[in-house]
Amino acid sequence: MTKSEQLFERAVKVLPGGVNSPVRAFRAVGGNPRFVVKGKGSHIWDEDGVEYIDYVGSWGPMVLGHSHPDILKAVYDRMVNGLSFGAPTALEVKMAEKMVEMVPNIEMVRMVNSGTEAVMSAVRLARGATGRDKIIKFEGCYHGHSDAMLVGAGSGALTQGEPDSKGVTKGAAQDTLMAQYNDLASVERLLDANPGQVAAVIVEPVAANMGVVPPKDGFLQGLRELCDKHGSLLIFDEVITGFRLAAGGAQEYFGVRADLVTFGKIIGGGMPVGAYAGTRALMEQVAPCGPVYQAGTLSGNPVAMAAGLAQLEILTAHPEVYHKMETSAQYIADHLRESAKKHSAKMQVNQIGSLLCPYFTETPVDCFAAAKTSDTKKYAKYFNEMLLRGVYLAPSQFEAMFVSSAHTQDDLAATVKAAEESIAAL
Ligand SMILES: *Cc1c(COP(=O)(O)O)cnc(C)c1O
Repeated sequence: MTKSEQLFERAVKVLPGGVNSPVRAFRAVGGNPRFVVKGKGSHIWDEDGVEYIDYVGSWGPMVLGHSHPDILKAVYDRMVNGLSFGAPTALEVKMAEKMVEMVPNIEMVRMVNSGTEAVMSAVRLARGATGRDKIIKFEGCYHGHSDAMLVGAGSGALTQGEPDSKGVTKGAAQDTLMAQYNDLASVERLLDANPGQVAAVIVEPVAANMGVVPPKDGFLQGLRELCDKHGSLLIFDEVITGFRLAAGGAQEYFGVRADLVTFGKIIGGGMPVGAYAGTRALMEQVAPCGPVYQAGTLSGNPVAMAAGLAQLEILTAHPEVYHKMETSAQYIADHLRESAKKHSAKMQVNQIGSLLCPYFTETPVDCFAAAKTSDTKKYAKYFNEMLLRGVYLAPSQFEAMFVSSAHTQDDLAATVKAAEESIAAL
């Protein structure tokens, strides 16, 4: 038995499914999860000493690769003076200033501890600020696991075979209306049918929890216009796209303004952090300024702020990383398409910025229904073939492949070689 197998055997006895987040259990692809001991740059090592080129990157945070020396140093330097105080620290101010500088259309920020918390709080704020109850979300978009958002959710909730979680009350779900991604008419119908009742439309500007589905031209702008027409707020859930598509996230990349923006993943530099942000007028509705309550014992934790801020500072100092990551992702996508053609594999490869995803289907994937046509058994086979060849991909079809600035030309060449062999083996 490998060390990972031994650990998993112990894990399943004390952790549900052996893990602390469902997708990690490898249930969608079969096999034994690898227990990771170390990451450096674009590579990770498992308990058995096997090295992999990593395209999970902790599901997005490691945009600069693992163990970046400047981020580690910022964490060490901060932690020797204490881990948490529950009182304000200078780092929180610097972090908020940095975010306001980088991200368009935001004036104030509230730090939280996860993407889930960021979305849950932003939705509460949208409801509090508009005095309306309903929310429109898109089928296959994932916004964390708060009750109101676990309706038609993507990511791990998809391969669970049970998209709507047990334990979510009808009451919590009834105010969540479901539209189709890239289909403005589906949004307009819901807004028309619920006049004056929709607090917000929440969207992943690039849907990255049903694989990777970029917005069609005009989709995000169309949402902006529909929200303005109906007095609803537009929430961009930028937990994945924030600081990844561009330094200013999707708002900058697509040139569309959101009223509220949620962050997570990258913003913590690998530590558990989330945030929501918006205009002063909206954010001053939050306690202690306004009537929308939201709090957090560890929110703005100094060590977490040190890591996140260090990462954001590197991203601002090195804007060229965005072009590099995009070029790397394009390189992989182009080669995947070539290999698919060469071996007559029915595949679609979606790519935008540093995000990409191969689907095993003939149908172009521009919405959730199309994503679901992918042959997930083929993905599972592909995943395992890649793993054998030292490439660590997301253990589920409905996740993105995250390219970092640490991926080298050698990594890319090894990846596309492994991919060609894996596709040939399907
Ligand atoms: C990961 C994710 C979340 C949830 O963030 P957690 O930190 O896992 O709670 C919310 N929205 C999107 C778009 C995500 O990808």
